[in-house]
This record gives sequence, structure tokens and C-alpha cells, in this order.
Amino acid sequence: MQAVLLGPPGAGKGTQAERLCQAHSLLHLSTGDLLRGAVTAGTDLGVEAKGFMDRGELVPDSLVLALLEERLAKKTSDEGFLLDGFPRNVSQAEALAAKIGDDTIDHVVYLKLDDDQILQRLLKRGRKDDTEEVILNRLSVYRAETEPLVAYYRERGLIRDVDALGTVEEVHKRLLDSITTGGAASC
Ligand code: ADP
Repeated sequence: MQAVLLGPPGAGKGTQAERLCQAHSLLHLSTGDLLRGAVTAGTDLGVEAKGFMDRGELVPDSLVLALLEERLAKKTSDEGFLLDGFPRNVSQAEALAAKIGDDTIDHVVYLKLDDDQILQRLLKRGRKDDTEEVILNRLSVYRAETEPLVAYYRERGLIRDVDALGTVEEVHKRLLDSITTGGAASC
């Protein structure tokens, strides 16, 4: 299976991606994690990416694509994967389609959460880039750049809507249902 996990910051993409990858033996590909790894390792790419991340802006596509390509090159050909935090805009989605082929994505799971909940969760999380100002910036970048992907993938019949409100277990179950029943579950 090749799938994408889409949703606003704070929707629980990272947590749910890990659980789903364990349940389905998928490779979890998080561009946020890859970028944080590059920052910690102090690579040139990490140094360049850091300022964008600290401000809650998107890291330029060329850097993210380079990191992702490097990681994809290491995976075995039959290994399924779940993308978490990528694509983040339409041009990344187009680059992904060009790289892995147009029809090779099985599902795009859209984790839905309203703004109040997003803010509450992110303020509680306390990651270094989770200050109120940076969170608000990430949210507006999400609305402008990433949310259009919901329509992009809906047009292609790939979107599965999943309500992100609830316990980790409840959301995990909904997510599993949404990708095993095949139909787009509404919420
Ligand atoms: P969250 O979804 O909670 O915002 P992530 O870990 O996915 O957290 O991303 C953290 C930061 O890393 C983002 O704010 C952004 O700066 C950068 N980033 C992650 N993935 C991408 C991507 N696909 N394109 C551009 N920037 C990205």
C-alpha cells in the first residue's frame, strides 16, 4: 500500500502514522522528522531548512524533495509506505505523481479537526516550533498551501475523510476502517 496522510498541524498525523505503519508493516515517511533529523545532524540542508521551520513556513520544495528522494532510494521496491507531512502543496503533489507514477497512490486519508481543537492541541504539545505566533503562521500556511490538496485528491477519488477528534485508539480504528472498507467514509 502507498498512502498519504493529510490534515492540519495538530491533527495527530505523526501518532496515527506510526500506529498504522505498525499495523500494516509500512514505511513511515515523515518529512517533518526527516527535516528535524537534518537540522540535528547539522547538514547543509538542515542549516538551510531550520529558519523556515522555526518560523512555521514551508521549507522550499527543492530541499524537501531532495531529502525524500534520498530516503525513498533506500527503501526496497516492494515496501509500502505512508507519507506524513508530504505533499504539503500542489507542486509537491505533482512532483510525487511524477516520481512514483500517477495512479500508484491507494489512499489519501484526510484527518479533520476544527481550528479550536488544533490550537488547543498544539499549545499543549510544546514542541520548540509550537509558540502561539508560529502556530498561527503554520495554520495560515496550511490553509493557503496544503488545504487545496484536499480538493486535488478528492477530484482524483482518493480522499478518505476521518474525524480526528477522539482518543488515539478511536481515531486509529476509524482510520483502519476508512482504508479497509475502500469507500470514502464521511464524518
Ligand atoms: P506539523 O504537521 O505539526 O506542522 P511537521 O513535523 O509535519 O509538523 O512539520 C514541521 C515543519 O517542517 C513545518 O512547519 C515545515 O516548516 C517543515 N516541513 C515538513 N514537511 C514539509 C514539506 N513537505 N514541505 C515543506 N516544509 C515541510
